[in-house]
Amino acid sequence: MTVSVTGATGFIGKRLVQRLHADNHNVRVLTRSKSKAELIFPVRDFPGIIIAEESRWKDCIEGSNAVVNLAGMPISTRWSPEIKKEIKHSRIRVTSKVVDLINNSPEGVRPNVLVSATAVGYYGTSETRVFDESSPPGNDYLAEVCREWEGTALKVNKDVRLALIRIGVVLGKDGGALAKMIPIFMMFAGGPLGSGKQWFSWIHLDDIVNLIYEAISNPSYKGVINGTAPNPVRLSEMCEQLGNVMGRPSWLPVPDFALKAVLGEGATVVLDGQRVVPAKAKELGFPFKYPYVKDALRSILS
Ligand code: NDP
Repeated sequence: MTVSVTGATGFIGKRLVQRLHADNHNVRVLTRSKSKAELIFPVRDFPGIIIAEESRWKDCIEGSNAVVNLAGMPISTRWSPEIKKEIKHSRIRVTSKVVDLINNSPEGVRPNVLVSATAVGYYGTSETRVFDESSPPGNDYLAEVCREWEGTALKVNKDVRLALIRIGVVLGKDGGALAKMIPIFMMFAGGPLGSGKQWFSWIHLDDIVNLIYEAISNPSYKGVINGTAPNPVRLSEMCEQLGNVMGRPSWLPVPDFALKAVLGEGATVVLDGQRVVPAKAKELGFPFKYPYVKDALRSILS
């Protein structure tokens, strides 16, 4: 199979590309910076991989069997009005470009599947509600970003299978929110954040990569699919488990300001959560490797 990937140089994309390459698929890395991507995917380790900047994306997308769209400016920064604009614009712009290139591909070389990222921020935040794929959107800033991001992907031709993966907080060692939270936990005693009652809908990096991989090749994966583990936890439990795994007592609360210092307003994804369940993935029989946060954290931190 030939797969083109935007955002391939990021936290999730890197692992996905490694997996696709290891399984002998042809991978085309669609990036804004060829030199950066060449450092991440050196030819000696990734022979045969094609790395293309935006002017060459058309040639890559034409002839691909699948396109995976992961690009977007990181949200864990300080949200000035300009940054908020770019968080949204970066996602809409790249998704729109990918969709146009797919729709304009001549038949015969048109990809037959688009797997496009979105986020559980779609649902807004709540301490009490449970959200599945049929739940309505929220009405805060991140919900608005996700709605428009998904709306752009939905413009892809109807003969192209579209899987929209609403991703939760991805847990992995070398990136994402966890990598930024760990030093804070080391600095403080590692207790709950805020009230601790907020929901934390997480997924292990291996599982999100496997879910995207499955969505590329399995025709049953279409429409919206929540990319979250089956057992979301309250933040107090997440912090307790993190404390246990790291051998830190978890009785002293970590102040919100400390997390905001490293995640900026992006800390909202951790501090104001939502309880999201992967109803569709379960219905599809997706085999979660890490259904419980304790095992996920152990695998990452041990
Ligand atoms: P990263 O931030 O690690 O990487 C995203 C990639 O997007 C970058 O490698 C970069 O690729 C590209 N990018 C960065 N800034 C811009 C910009 N201003 N304009 C266009 N492209 C840009 O993301 P993740 O791997 O963590 O996540 C992948 C997708 O999944 C993202 O869209 C993210 O919002 C979504 N998601 C991730 C979650 C998580 O916990 N990690 C949770 C929920 C959703 P290049 O420089 O090669 O062009």
